[in-house]
Amino acid sequence: MSTNTNTKTLNTKPTAFNGIRIAVQKSGRLSDKSLQLLKDCGIKFDLSSRVLSVQARNFPMEILFLRDDDIPQYVANGVADLGILGLNEVEEKDQNVNVVKQLGFAGCRVSLAVQKDVDYPGLEWFNGKKVASSYTTIVKKFFAAKGINATTEEIGGSVEIAPGIGLADAICDIVSTGSTLLMNGLKEVETVMYSEAVLIANPTLDDAKKVLLDKLMFRIEAVQNASKNKYILLNAPNDKIAQISALLPGMKSPTVLPLAEEGWSSLHSVIEENDFWNVIDQLKEAGAQGILVSPIEKLIA
Ligand code: ATP
Ligand code: MG
Repeated sequence: MSTNTNTKTLNTKPTAFNGIRIAVQKSGRLSDKSLQLLKDCGIKFDLSSRVLSVQARNFPMEILFLRDDDIPQYVANGVADLGILGLNEVEEKDQNVNVVKQLGFAGCRVSLAVQKDVDYPGLEWFNGKKVASSYTTIVKKFFAAKGINATTEEIGGSVEIAPGIGLADAICDIVSTGSTLLMNGLKEVETVMYSEAVLIANPTLDDAKKVLLDKLMFRIEAVQNASKNKYILLNAPNDKIAQISALLPGMKSPTVLPLAEEGWSSLHSVIEENDFWNVIDQLKEAGAQGILVSPIEKLIA
């Protein structure tokens, strides 16, 4: 035990941060959307370039900016409590983390592709072949599960050129539209996995951090619900209210307010965008007028 009363020297260690630390990609395809999601959740922070971390102003959260490859390891060993990254990277790094939420952006697939003149008979083609990829763990697991005996060559980037220069017979890489493959004379032959951005968490968060994770998840769900749903407002003759209400599968029943014009009411409800397109004609036929549909910022069901 120290008897040193010089508080200056005793306090040189930074005080422990007792909020929750979330790792996001420093710069890349996920960065903007990850930060936007936190902002949509009402979390405010000041960004300046080249910072490695930032503390939120109105939520006990610190945001760490990292390469996406490093996020699974940092979350597994507790340097970060949470992380946002592609499911493909989570699978590839195979660390002890929990996937706690699908975030619905950065959708893509990890696929096997071969040169376009290959007469591809099916997965057995890969027996004895060499596959270049940045996702060798995923590829090996896939082939093992399918009983295919292929080898892998790990390369960090520009995987598409590997078959053309004789480095490998095929590749396994991220595909979204397939145009990069086409440009490099390749064709997609097998989907290995589908991916999207996910929220991961350290499996042994303490109770205080679990409370913060629950708060964050609640907010993410409100944001996700809001983006799927629209606020609908329409005018209806009073004798058609029951018929029109039945067409609006809202959260409960619609709010009905009398209009200044005798015999008319205004109906307010929440509707899924897809449902709206399905019922629009029926709403008009039932006598609805002045139909207004507008976005919702947050929705708590
Ligand atoms: P870092 O420098 O952080 O390692 P990176 O080069 O590995 O970045 P990005 O290209 O920024 O990664 O992609 C990050 C993630 O975005 C991928 O792991 C994948 O989940 C997703 N992604 C990549 N390419 C696409 C695409 N074409 N369409 C949709 N999502 C994609
Ligand atoms: Mg990366």
